Amino acid sequence: MPMQSNEHLDRPHRHHYDAEMLSVEEAREQILSYFEILPAEETDLVDSLGQVAAENLVAPFDIPPLANSAMDGYAVRAVDTKGASKDSPVELPVVGVIAAGQLPERTLEAGTAVRIMTGAPVPDYADAVVPFEDTDELERRASGDAGGLIAIHLPAETYDNVRGAGEDIEIGETVVESGQILRAAEIGVIASLGHSNVKVIRRPVVAIVSTGDELIEPGQEYEPGKIYNSNAFSLAAMVSRYGGVPRIMGIARDTIESLESALDDALDADLVVTSAGVSKGDYDVVKDVLSAKGEIALWSVRMRPAKPLAFGVLERSDGTKVPHLGVPGNPVSAMVAFEQFGRPAVRLMMGKPLANKPTIEAVMDDPIRNFDGRRVYARVQVYKDESGEFRAKSTGNQSSGVLSSMALANGLAICPDDIGMIDVGEIARVEMLDWPDDIF
Ligand code: AMP
Ligand code: MG
Repeated sequence: MPMQSNEHLDRPHRHHYDAEMLSVEEAREQILSYFEILPAEETDLVDSLGQVAAENLVAPFDIPPLANSAMDGYAVRAVDTKGASKDSPVELPVVGVIAAGQLPERTLEAGTAVRIMTGAPVPDYADAVVPFEDTDELERRASGDAGGLIAIHLPAETYDNVRGAGEDIEIGETVVESGQILRAAEIGVIASLGHSNVKVIRRPVVAIVSTGDELIEPGQEYEPGKIYNSNAFSLAAMVSRYGGVPRIMGIARDTIESLESALDDALDADLVVTSAGVSKGDYDVVKDVLSAKGEIALWSVRMRPAKPLAFGVLERSDGTKVPHLGVPGNPVSAMVAFEQFGRPAVRLMMGKPLANKPTIEAVMDDPIRNFDGRRVYARVQVYKDESGEFRAKSTGNQSSGVLSSMALANGLAICPDDIGMIDVGEIARVEMLDWPDDIF
């Protein structure tokens, strides 16, 4: 799945191991300059949730195509029900039945009624539907007197309970525009036009390579001294959540051969994410292999967690290139780095606007301390107090290896890099982790 054009990957690249502190925004901007929107493809409508339409969808017919009944009742000419009341009902002969999905057999003659079900097309010359509850339908049915006459208890106005043809969508109307993000409602509208496929920007394939001699795979038996490869799974889940297709490539050991072979298998993706092995103090194999296979820059980003970050491009055998994002190994760092740098890259490739994470302001129940001039992303649980105000409570141990406090968090409260602390009772901006507007 090579990218359409790779020229954007050929621009001069920072190629050095020297750490330089970048702000989150600077790092993000540099990273995003290596991505471009992916080509469009036809997809099954049912799989298109959250994708961007790559065509205008125009209604080929009116929806609804025919005037139809909004209620179960009797189709009538409104004028025939004039003056009807419970005490002096208008009685009309019932001359037929129209079920949903059937067409009326004949036009409605003056002074008659047709029994009609919700959604069934209204016969010509009928201009109103009297619902069962405004007739003696129930009494008649109870007494076994179906058919014959129906007594109408309320006068109908023209168009009562009749949905006009084209009331929803008129023929020729553009109902979904190219560039629109498909949500459940758009998908329903497209289906109502009769389409089972839709042309969309395709989903990026994100290959996930975990590195480290200490890792074993979930499902394998526990071994003392080893840890389970959780990063691949949290990263894959984030890729899916933001609309990409994750491909877990397994574990590369800290050897040249193992890492080379894992990367080779990953190269046909649209983005390769590696976890661990790229911080400054790490064993050099990972850096050496990555730089031999392309270009790599190792950054220090002014954030906590996830200060060390690698970014570069890997070269495929045919000379095309694929961007590579190297996130730290610590499980929380891996997730926070992917939120900040992976999510916008996935969005960009999918043709979505680069919306930031949804943020709110909350009063802190616990302090956020900033020890070393980096932007702190503190794991918090946001809730509303009795007065309806947002408050944020720390979810516990903020060490970058403590994934359980990430699992308890619904937001990341921010202490800016140039502020030493946000104290109890002070207001912090919080990036909400699971609000739906960060997927659409
Ligand atoms: P590193 O970035 O290699 O220094 O790793 C930092 C920490 O993250 C170490 O405690 C690693 O064991 C841990 N770690 C590395 N890779 C993973 C992974 N795939 N899943 C969970 N923890 C990991
Ligand atoms: Mg390691």
